[in-house]
Amino acid sequence: MPISFKKINLLVLIVFGFYIFFTNVSNLNFKKNVIVSDTKHKKIQKQEIVNEPERNSPTSIVQDSIDNSVINLNEEVITVKKGQTFSEILDNFLFKYNKFEIINLVNSEFNLKGLKINQKISFFSDKKNITKKIIIELDYKTILIINLSDKMEVTKKELNTFSTIESKEYIILNSLYTDGIENDVPNEVLIKLIQLFSFDLDFQRDIKKNTLVSIAYEKTFVENALDFSIGNIEYAKIEIDKNSLEYFKFFTNEGFIDYFNREGKNVKKSILKTPLDGAKLSSSFGMRKHPISGFNKMHKGIDFAAPIGTPIYAGGNGIVEYVGRNGGYGKYIRIRHNNEYKTAYAHLSGYKKGISKGVRVNQGEVIGYVGNTGRSTGPHLHYEIIYQNKQINPLNLKLPSGKILEGDELIRFNREYKTILANHLNNLFE
Ligand SMILES: [Zn+2]
Repeated sequence: MPISFKKINLLVLIVFGFYIFFTNVSNLNFKKNVIVSDTKHKKIQKQEIVNEPERNSPTSIVQDSIDNSVINLNEEVITVKKGQTFSEILDNFLFKYNKFEIINLVNSEFNLKGLKINQKISFFSDKKNITKKIIIELDYKTILIINLSDKMEVTKKELNTFSTIESKEYIILNSLYTDGIENDVPNEVLIKLIQLFSFDLDFQRDIKKNTLVSIAYEKTFVENALDFSIGNIEYAKIEIDKNSLEYFKFFTNEGFIDYFNREGKNVKKSILKTPLDGAKLSSSFGMRKHPISGFNKMHKGIDFAAPIGTPIYAGGNGIVEYVGRNGGYGKYIRIRHNNEYKTAYAHLSGYKKGISKGVRVNQGEVIGYVGNTGRSTGPHLHYEIIYQNKQINPLNLKLPSGKILEGDELIRFNREYKTILANHLNNLFE
């Protein structure tokens, strides 16, 4: 579904504009392009405000400590360079106070030896170039205000923050990343998104044109700054050819933030070590005398003895890369799980209907049946796990094992994911 991205972007601007307007801190933002539009205020409700700033007083703390004349002052922002001291920076400005008085005053609240490279300091000067105010950014939400007007004083202020959930949806035309940037999805979110799906997708190969990306994430704004920080992804969906992979954020009972699909399965699915039921391990990975050739040879998989026709499951989510006869392997299937892992299944008697090259399969889905085709001495499944194009011993596989929610935790998850989804769709479509 094509979504109006402009609308979403506008909404974010409006919400922020409204905030600036409402909290009356706009005097410091006049030089920045904050759009405040009265007619759009109704739309605010469409952004879920998770954590509203405290508004005990109609004026902001910044406003309280800055006299109104700042509006007529000229602001110059200095970025601290390597080796530069506060004293050296002050030399570029004029004050009606002695430089060392100012330094002593600042040091009473903040040790200037702790000044860091790239830290920002704003100087506000009047028409005669006399600096009336200095603001030092201590961290993303704390500032130090040095008043140098009629009386000299310093105040440390924690800025209010507020969080919203932002939702975006876009179609991939080039890549998940570049199209994400085009659609104003923050870089940090895209990196998290790629990490989240790295167990399921090979981003170089699986993503096709017209893949849909739908995502909701937390964004925290700081008053008086156009800056924001990005929190966790709340929801993410990648839809390829009508197949959806989706994950919801969830606080587990252990207190971790993790991601689960609608069934309550964790994103970090391991690859199955035994991709069939009721089988007996008949030959393990490693050097052995080949039962047919008689030569010592590396056995690059593990064998499971099982009756002909026993269903074989996909070892993990992935895309079928090969289906068909493959020399000594007989009837053979190979699945690519992501850009590092593949699994292969050999000596099959047949393939499950619908399994063909390019088809997407989910972990545990039946893909074929145990047989005795190729160089095989009896009915068994020869199973390989391929890591970076080399067979590895499946029994030594050390992938994180995914948690599956159950009981009360599953009930809680079911409730919470529906809320996340409803909010996301509400953000997108209303
Ligand atoms: Zn084998």
